Amino acid sequence: MILPKANRLTSEQLAEITRIVEDFGCRIQPIVGAVRTIYAIVGDEREELMIDRLEGLGYIDRVDKIQSPHKLMDRRSDLATHRIALGGITLGTELLIIAGQCTIDPKNPQLFYETAQAVKEAGAQVLRGGVWKPRTNPYAFQGDVKSLDILLEAHRRTGLPVDAEVMDEQQLKLALDAGVHMLQIGARNALNYSLLRAVGRAVAERDTVVLLKRSLHMGPLNEFISAAEYIVSFGNPNILLCPRGTSPTLEGYRNHPDESITPLLKEKTWAPVVVDPSHSVGKAAYVPACALAAVAYGADGLCIEAHVSPSQGIGDDPKQALPPATLAETIRQAKQIWMLRHPR
Ligand code: PEP
Ligand code: MN
Repeated sequence: MILPKANRLTSEQLAEITRIVEDFGCRIQPIVGAVRTIYAIVGDEREELMIDRLEGLGYIDRVDKIQSPHKLMDRRSDLATHRIALGGITLGTELLIIAGQCTIDPKNPQLFYETAQAVKEAGAQVLRGGVWKPRTNPYAFQGDVKSLDILLEAHRRTGLPVDAEVMDEQQLKLALDAGVHMLQIGARNALNYSLLRAVGRAVAERDTVVLLKRSLHMGPLNEFISAAEYIVSFGNPNILLCPRGTSPTLEGYRNHPDESITPLLKEKTWAPVVVDPSHSVGKAAYVPACALAAVAYGADGLCIEAHVSPSQGIGDDPKQALPPATLAETIRQAKQIWMLRHPR
């Protein structure tokens, strides 16, 4: 990883370092942060002569050689100073709340507009709404592209940035073209490396934020962090890590709640952790406790399914979604725990 003395290199300087690393079979990937750009060396960056040539240049501060399978996501990476801003807040300085329906019902857009207004009033800064849905049952409702218009209309009505899951490159393009602010990579696709690469490539030149869920089948944390590295390595460091429960399930819960991995993630990586208590436990009655536990464990944010009238919902909403009053109370309590952990 190359750190210039200035905030970024000029095009001539970039061309010069590119020539140097190419002589050693490597290439340069700029990673554009809000304030400064750093330059990842893609390839084997341990070659001493290459490092000496780079460090010999007057405009280079230093070359960091982090020996980690996820050197950009690593806590020791210079990206550790990168701050992600969304919905009017900067991650890490205030608790981020993403809330909204599991699934938008294209036959009932009005319900989603009401949910959008209700989650805003409850204190959410980002609105979620499922457009395309990964369903276990192939005959269950799979989502509908029409819901993309409904999602963006809810954004116009509330001013909240919006989040939707994409499962393939076509959906990815449609969501970005429509102006979706946050892309969700779901638990089923967190190990789909070609999709991770496609997402990284597609968001490289944008300020889109990616919420990467933990796969149901991920074991060692390195697997989760490396999945994030796939995306970030294309140049956009706006990534949020989202524990959402794993398999096998804890009897009684939908999954095995995994908010407790938050401190471990924070030890290994700088990326903000946004826990999804809804899919972790799978039942509205258990969601508030899981949400509060996540904040106590050090989460930077929560992604909560909520619905203005859960019994009229589709997808996970009838079982999992919090009604607005419960969402508001959960957010209030979560903010109190956040304040205990971050005294001003
Ligand atoms: C969802 O957020 O509605 C969803 C399907 O999430 P996950 O990928 O965590 O199952
Ligand atoms: Mn859901």
